[in-house]
Parts: sequence; C-alpha cells; structure tokens
Amino acid sequence: MTSISSGPTRSSAARARGHAVLGTKTITPPFDALLGQPLVARFLATAVFEGHLNHAYLFVGPLGSGKTEATIALAKAILCPAATTGGAVGSDDCEDCVRVARRTHPDLHIVEPEGVEGYLAAQIRELIHDATLAPVRSRAKIYVLTRADLLGAASANALLKTLEEPTSSVVFILMARTIESVLETLRSRCQLLAFRSIPEVEAVRTLTDDGAATEREARIALAATGGSPLRARAFVRSQARRDARVAVLGEVERMLSADSLDVLEAARSLTRIFKAPLDELRAAQSEQLEEGRDFLTKGGVAALEKRFTRQLGVREREQIAEALAVIRSWLRDCLLMRIGRGEDIVNTDFHGNIVCAAQRTHEAALIRALSVVDEAEDRMHYNVSVQSVFESLLFTIREVLEHHE
Ligand SMILES: [Zn+2]
Repeated sequence: MTSISSGPTRSSAARARGHAVLGTKTITPPFDALLGQPLVARFLATAVFEGHLNHAYLFVGPLGSGKTEATIALAKAILCPAATTGGAVGSDDCEDCVRVARRTHPDLHIVEPEGVEGYLAAQIRELIHDATLAPVRSRAKIYVLTRADLLGAASANALLKTLEEPTSSVVFILMARTIESVLETLRSRCQLLAFRSIPEVEAVRTLTDDGAATEREARIALAATGGSPLRARAFVRSQARRDARVAVLGEVERMLSADSLDVLEAARSLTRIFKAPLDELRAAQSEQLEEGRDFLTKGGVAALEKRFTRQLGVREREQIAEALAVIRSWLRDCLLMRIGRGEDIVNTDFHGNIVCAAQRTHEAALIRALSVVDEAEDRMHYNVSVQSVFESLLFTIREVLEHHE
C-alpha cells in the first residue's frame, strides 16, 4: 500500500491547483475502499488530508450506496495515528484502524436508535455529555448517528447547540436515506454529502474484478444485501449467510404446493433460519471479549458487553432485512420470467421453481406480493413478532401462486 500524501508539499501544491485534486484519478487510502462513490471519496480525502474537515456531516443516500463504508473510511482517516505522521492510513497492521473497522475503537461512537420510534432523549443527553470529554486514544472523537431521520424535535434541539459550538476535536456524522426526512434545523448545521445509488453493473464489477465472486454470485449477494458492494462482499465470505439464503428460498419454494399448515411451519422455519448467521457474530464477539479482558478494566469489559448486545440486535434486524431482500429478489425474478426476461433473473440456482411459479401467476399478483414484502419490512420496525410477519408474507405468496389465469 502506498503511503498517503499528507505532507506539506502535496497540500500546498494541491491548494495551488484549487479543485484540481478532485479531478485526479487515484483516491488515497482509506477512501479507496469507498466503492462506487468517487466524488464523495475524493471530497472526503481532500477535506481530511488538506485539513479542512467539517465538524458535522450529513450523509444522504439510498440503502446500499456506501454511507457506512464512508463513515468507516472517514473514521480511520481521522483516528489513525499515521494521519499525522504521514504513514499509511488504514493499514491492516494498524491497531486503531483495525478497531475502527471492528467498530470497537473507543473514540468512534456509532449511535443507533434505542427506542421503538427513534432515539431516546436519554441517549442524546448521554452523547452530548460524552462529547465534552477528551478523546481516549486518538486526536479526535467521532459520533455517528445512523438514523438522523429518527431524531425527534426534542432530541434534535438538544443536539443543535453541540453542533453549533463543537469542541475542535469532535466530528459528527449524521446518516439518512433522504434529505427530506431530516429536520431542517439539523440539515442547515451540517455539510451535506449526497451518495448516488450505485448501478448494478458497476457494483457487480467491484466484486468480480478482484475475483471475490463470479458474476452470478455477485448478483445474488447484491440482491440479498440491498445493493451495497461492501455488504455484498461480506455476504459472499459468509457461508452461514449464503446457506441461510438457500434455506429461505427453499421455504418459499414450498409455497408452490403448500397447505395452511405448511405455511405455518415454513414461517417457523424462516424464523430459525435467519437467526443462524448470528452465531458467527457471537463467536467473533466472545473472541474479542477474551482479548479485551487482558487490558480492559471491569467497567471497560461491561461497556464492551453492552455494545456487543446492541451490535447483535442491529445484526438481527439486518438478518431479517436480508431474508426479506432474498424473498423480494425471488419475486422479482418470477416477474421477469413472467414478462419474458428470464435471462435477467438473479436466483439462477432456483431457475426451475421460478419458471413454475411464473406460469401459475400473473404480473399484478406478483407486484402485490412485492408490496407486501415492503409492508413486512415496515412492520419489523414495530417490534411485532418476526414469525407473524413471515406467516402473513408466506400466506400472500401462496395465494399469489395459487392464481390461475
Ligand atoms: Zn491506522
């Protein structure tokens, strides 16, 4: 890996060229990890390495556009000790960068909403107080609010003062899918960065170029992970998640000849299937906890355990979303088959049952089933039982497949 050019020579040369640096082809690490977003990557690299970093950013873009990846890259660039010494930022040998990637760096605070309807006032109070304290091991602290759209008026107001008069060593990153979903008062205090939705061909290329996946595997992985190249890469690497996908589609396949009891049983089995990949995370967590016990205080271990519990909760929600995305891609395949575009289907390993399903139903019914998947996704946010959501979804799919023209 080449070293980042953060020395004074390049900085002044780049400044002399004005915005010319935005036009250069190479993007320096760690921002080279930001697949499919060259403009954002160059913008952030310039801001960090030329020293005009903002105190608050608002990352806006659709699911899968790389907002999380950008957050991790920016956190590495800020927290890495090499950023000030001119060494290689984002190296796998760097303890700070590894911790950022694992989201266990003590100066990186990723704050997910803990309430059913969004951030709790207590969460924001705690964050505001914490932001006044000095960094633990780096030159700065970073607070990431993953769902800026779920900041209520009271929480947002409490946060405003901190955003307006930030400590010099604090950087806030707010994330949202759309700009409209974020309160105007928050928007106006942040530097806005818009992430484009990454075209599928491009996303596929990022996975196939270095041999991480074949084109078929890449398309399957992208469909299961909402189109994010980085998440798709993790999917390809996880045997448990790939197995879960096959198992989910196996249950959907059963709907071709299912009675009501079969549907209930399939819903129960889906509920088990999506939880299986969580074991991988649990194993990684206990390994990190063991490592942590060597140098952390009792309080430190307790804090880490608390963070891991939250992480599991987040991962569980992601797994449900993944199961629904897999079902959505299968229904889309049926629709493609139905309208004579069978060569475009993603789940080619289930080609036979897609042909069979497409013959039994019609476009309007499939489109209705797709909207039921969206509804199921919304319902999952409201703490309803996962099994009941899968039940009603599978009943709809069975109904759709029973239709004869
Ligand atoms: Zn580093």
